[in-house]
Amino acid sequence: MNIKTNMFRLIVTEACNARCKYCLAEDTPKNGQNQSLRAVERAAKKAKQNGASEASISGGEPLMGKNVLEKIRIVKKYFDRINLQTNGILLNNPKEFKEAGITTVIVNLPSYDKATYEELTGVKKYDQAILNIKKAVKAGLNVRINALLVKGYTDDYAHCLKMIEFSKQLGLKELTFTQLVPTNKFAKEHRTDLNIIRQLFLRSRQTENQKYHSIDVYTFLGMTIGLSSCPFKENEKAFKLGWAKEYVLTEDSRLVTDYFHQDKSVMEVLA
Ligand code: SF4
Repeated sequence: MNIKTNMFRLIVTEACNARCKYCLAEDTPKNGQNQSLRAVERAAKKAKQNGASEASISGGEPLMGKNVLEKIRIVKKYFDRINLQTNGILLNNPKEFKEAGITTVIVNLPSYDKATYEELTGVKKYDQAILNIKKAVKAGLNVRINALLVKGYTDDYAHCLKMIEFSKQLGLKELTFTQLVPTNKFAKEHRTDLNIIRQLFLRSRQTENQKYHSIDVYTFLGMTIGLSSCPFKENEKAFKLGWAKEYVLTEDSRLVTDYFHQDKSVMEVLA
């Protein structure tokens, strides 16, 4: 079953404090631009008028951006459900984010294993990220780990099973495994075949499968597990078929309908 949701995505900044080998922005900037509060208000309103029903706060690393809490409060005026996509490193006070209006925190964490995490993300911030996940759970936020499947690092059964156990120990109820977007040399060489991982879930009698955008959803070992194929291609297909739409406000204040093809999809440049 396909579930259709139109989304407003706020790219607070393209800057990031990690250096993941597979990053979409191959050389993630340390400093990005930041759109104005007025541009956020105008974009959120427009997305809502165009039928968006959920919002996502992302980046880069959104917590590197300016006035993030104020921007979330503005988005909250238009959307009840808002997720925050973060690497968790700066999420020291998740309570503030909950109070501002965040309902779900999606933490990009490639591995439960500290050495693998450090090798893939290029930073020694594992302990900080894990501590902040625990704080977010304690603050009552719905927290989900997004685990990238990286061939030769994190894509084998044993690693996936350990990620599930690890997430359960952290008190999480959901986990998503995501295929790499093939945007740089490393990502192209380390993309994994999702069918291999899919077998893990199909073997289990406990599976229940439905489709949410590009994500197959399973119930496995008492957790909700998403298996997400490359968002780049799936989004392109979904937009073409018209069953999912995104309205994205970029860090330089352009409201676009397709983040991956910004040159073709600018709706408006906001101030
Ligand atoms: S955390 Fe995300 S934005 Fe930052 S370097 Fe890693 S993949 Fe790129």
